[in-house]
Amino acid sequence: MHIKSARFVISNTEVAKCPNNSLPEYAFIGRSNVGKSSLINSICNKKNLAKTSSKPGKTQLINHFLINENWYLVDLPGYGYARVSKTRKKIFQAFIIDYLKKRSQLVNTFLLIDIRHEPQDIDLRFMEWLVENLIPFSIVFTKSDKLKPRKIANNINLYTDQMISSNWAELPPIFKTSSNHHTGVNEILEYINKLNRVILENN
Ligand code: GDP
Repeated sequence: MHIKSARFVISNTEVAKCPNNSLPEYAFIGRSNVGKSSLINSICNKKNLAKTSSKPGKTQLINHFLINENWYLVDLPGYGYARVSKTRKKIFQAFIIDYLKKRSQLVNTFLLIDIRHEPQDIDLRFMEWLVENLIPFSIVFTKSDKLKPRKIANNINLYTDQMISSNWAELPPIFKTSSNHHTGVNEILEYINKLNRVILENN
């Protein structure tokens, strides 16, 4: 898919205030600092569409971007750990859960995971939650330029082993990406394109 246009539409914390039309939506979510803003910018071929920030948890809103005037890319807040005074608390904000459960236009959620880390409890719990709630998702490994191919394969296997041992009916699609090298991005766009075509044919 060629990106002809990409523009920011609205930010909010309420599903009820999200764009009021039936265009398909694709959400991007992951822990703070996973490389989400960089990937969104890389997908849209724009330098500063999503803000890349060094401060974790800075973007705490549901951000809608209209792509090619016919689908939305939705940038969801990074989950992970919030600094509550001097303690750190694991967080999944209620409005993110609300969006994922209620937004009927949501076609697929791309769950971003930093390829350098071994499976983290918070990501595995989130995946389990997506499965339990029948929310379609794919896994996008980020920063693949940081590791050698063998280590990449090892780390991906650690995740798939966990999924297989959880007895899921099927494994989600997996993408390997690097925003720095602009790799894996076209595969994500082609996947979105394929799903958009299926939706069009069924309408
Ligand atoms: P976000 O908090 O998830 O939106 O993450 P950002 O996109 O702001 O990226 C967090 C940090 O990871 C920044 O220092 C980025 O430069 C770095 N980063 C993001 N994507 C990549 C990538 O593909 N490769 C490498 N090597 N670094 C990346």
